[in-house]
Amino acid sequence: MSALTKIMKYNEGFVNEGNYQEFETTKYPDQKIVILTCMDTRLLELLQKAIGLKNGDAKIIRNAGAVIANPFDSVMRSILISIHEFETKEVFIIGHHECGMASLQAEAILEKIKGQGIDEKCIDTIIQSGISLSDWLTGFGCVEKSVSQSVNIVKNHPLVPNNVVVHGLVIHPQTGQLELVIDGNENKQESSIEEGIYV
Ligand SMILES: [Zn+2]
Repeated sequence: MSALTKIMKYNEGFVNEGNYQEFETTKYPDQKIVILTCMDTRLLELLQKAIGLKNGDAKIIRNAGAVIANPFDSVMRSILISIHEFETKEVFIIGHHECGMASLQAEAILEKIKGQGIDEKCIDTIIQSGISLSDWLTGFGCVEKSVSQSVNIVKNHPLVPNNVVVHGLVIHPQTGQLELVIDGNENKQESSIEEGIYV
């Protein structure tokens, strides 16, 4: 049975039996927080359970590595929408140990892409158009540093108001234990001064 068939079959029962009722909530995050974390499968349920969140508590954005690539990428846009449309007051960047992005090498993934039958000419055309595939497909060396960089992008963003705090954390993918990298409350005064330059 394909994943799609299995999902559609399960969904029919879920809806018909009214199992959705326990998840009913609004589109506004009750805890007024937005979380950027990794798409790692180990965090699918673990993250929410480990930090005590239930359906409706938070906006959650997931990508490979919990990384904001640049101040105007889709992740940053989602964070801005959370703040300005959904009354979010705190931003959490939560990376994790043993992240696949920590060891991602562009050359290795390009070899896998070619191995799937993608023509090398296609790859060359992308590179010639000015896209640096080697930068785009390279991960980070240190998760704490990566989290700090993403926190700084949000903190210093010209469209993020001064009253929004930004935290950086790392979670263990087995135990769910959190390590605090940046406490946004501690840095609030300093960041407000920095943000004042932009706002
Ligand atoms: Zn990861």
